[in-house]
Amino acid sequence: MILKKTLCGAVAALTVIASGQAVVFAESADTSPSKVTVTPSERLKSISPYIYGVNFEADLNTVAPKSIRMGGNRMSAYNWETNMSNAGSDWRNASDMYVVRNLPDELKTAPAGLAQGVVGEAKAHNIPYTLLTLQMLGYVSADQNGDVPETSAAPSDRWAEVINRKGGELAESPDLSDGKVYMDEYLNYLTGKLGKSDSGTGIRGYELDNEPALWSSTHSLVQRQPLSCAELVMKSVDLAKVIKESDEGADVFGPSLYGYAAYASFQGAPDWEEIKAANGYRWFVDYYLDEMKKAGDSSGKRLLDVLDLHFYTEAKGPCGERSCNHYDNDGCVKARLNSVRALYDERYRENSWIQSTGAQFFPLLPNIKQSIDKYYPGTKISFTEYNFGGGDHISGAVAQADTLGIFAENDVYFATIWAFENSQYQFAAINMFTNYDGKGSGFGDTLVKSEYENKDVSVYSSIDGENEDTVKIIVTNRSLHEETPLELSLSSNSEYKSAEVYALYGDSSEIRAMPAATVEGNKLTYSLQPLSVTEFVVSRNSAAAPSESSRDASENVSDNSSGDISANASDSVPEDISLVSSVSDSASHSENISLMPIIIAAAAVVAAVVTVVIVKKKKK
Ligand SMILES: [Zn+2]
Repeated sequence: MILKKTLCGAVAALTVIASGQAVVFAESADTSPSKVTVTPSERLKSISPYIYGVNFEADLNTVAPKSIRMGGNRMSAYNWETNMSNAGSDWRNASDMYVVRNLPDELKTAPAGLAQGVVGEAKAHNIPYTLLTLQMLGYVSADQNGDVPETSAAPSDRWAEVINRKGGELAESPDLSDGKVYMDEYLNYLTGKLGKSDSGTGIRGYELDNEPALWSSTHSLVQRQPLSCAELVMKSVDLAKVIKESDEGADVFGPSLYGYAAYASFQGAPDWEEIKAANGYRWFVDYYLDEMKKAGDSSGKRLLDVLDLHFYTEAKGPCGERSCNHYDNDGCVKARLNSVRALYDERYRENSWIQSTGAQFFPLLPNIKQSIDKYYPGTKISFTEYNFGGGDHISGAVAQADTLGIFAENDVYFATIWAFENSQYQFAAINMFTNYDGKGSGFGDTLVKSEYENKDVSVYSSIDGENEDTVKIIVTNRSLHEETPLELSLSSNSEYKSAEVYALYGDSSEIRAMPAATVEGNKLTYSLQPLSVTEFVVSRNSAAAPSESSRDASENVSDNSSGDISANASDSVPEDISLVSSVSDSASHSENISLMPIIIAAAAVVAAVVTVVIVKKKKK
């Protein structure tokens, strides 16, 4: 251990500024004191509150999100007139009332009942942003009669055709017997019922359907052949225009790409290679942005506000599984903690099929920004589905807190986690940013400068607006077993006097209000728990009575801890097993890919499809 400390001390000499630049997570334990300097007057950027979001059906008594999205595979074949939907390959191509099963009876049969239900829930929980997925696949469920056989593929009487423009008067109540659903009538109905996007009560954004690169597998009874790039653009432009005509201020999100193979080539779409070669595009994202901009320019208005991708980590632990739950294997836990680096860190090499094919578009966020700057400046970024796993373990909380910090540092506008069955630790990490005290107090809306050197630690610091009276600092500790001494300094002319402390660690998904920390000479020292998320609320005011809010925080943040989750590694696991990625930067992406035989690329497509099947199986 002593040798290790010495080595890490040398490596840690580099000071890292948390402004979206590469922060290198440690590959082995770094137990040197972590010196952190926060400069409240150095404002880096504003933070979009909508990155703290969830998908519909997350337990809103457990998590306090700032955005909510109604999406998923079901939405492609959702009939707004009747609330019937089709599950596609997720469940026997069944048509039923599944998506509204938990809604009040009066909404189950009301047109747009689902949207009304989501908006109602959002309102009840003070969630300011609701995103709704619209239908672009072409046909939606026409009944609730269960499994649809191959012989009843669309068009058939099991499906209702989707048409963007009705071309006549929009009805106040839709005609349920015409075998068609109209998107302009849907939007008109929604804005009439709920108000427009700027009303404070309406839907704020609309998504151009969901994961279209997979339609020919997910919804094969409607999309018989893989969708081409050109078809996607044509459908997207047309529906985006309808949205903007109905509610000009609403955000349009697209194309909701499911994962890396869709970003790269729209899942090897039939027309991709030709389009790519003719235009010199790097990846499908370039083409999509370029086409949406051209269409917007010629119609005189922006048609795409937010570029939307989905991101489920493909990184594997030493066990060979992606996003595994081997919590007693240090290597597997570290693989999760490191996996978020695919978002921003050019030195990260994950153990995945993506890396095996060169990972040309990792780190993801810088690549996305490069494409936006070139092809459609001003487009915002969202991840309406993502998950780094570990929802039932503290490692999932740490990865989630880092994810949110990375989103803040990298200008992400909107993000809604797609929660799997157990998500209490990930939700608790969201609450650290939105409701750490159980009274609605959250992270600030303005990111300020943090400097730190310990590679097991990341620091995200914030104030509200320009008010430096209170500084909220979230520190993640990725040291697996050792407490990490923290020396926190505030670089400021004025004096800070107290710090409330909230922490998430160990085998509980409760945010714990800790004893207040003493601040002297704008410095405080603290011992960070191993594998923890800690928030310091540093104030110029003297300490109030923190114990009062402590109890509230513990009570209000629901405790779903599931008993005996062992966070400790078995002694038999070698300490160095975690080296699933290398910080070596000698091999450039292009070198990697040029050496890659074509056959490996083909294998990657197979792997992608297998991966998709695995991911989809986890979804409802
Ligand atoms: Zn594992």
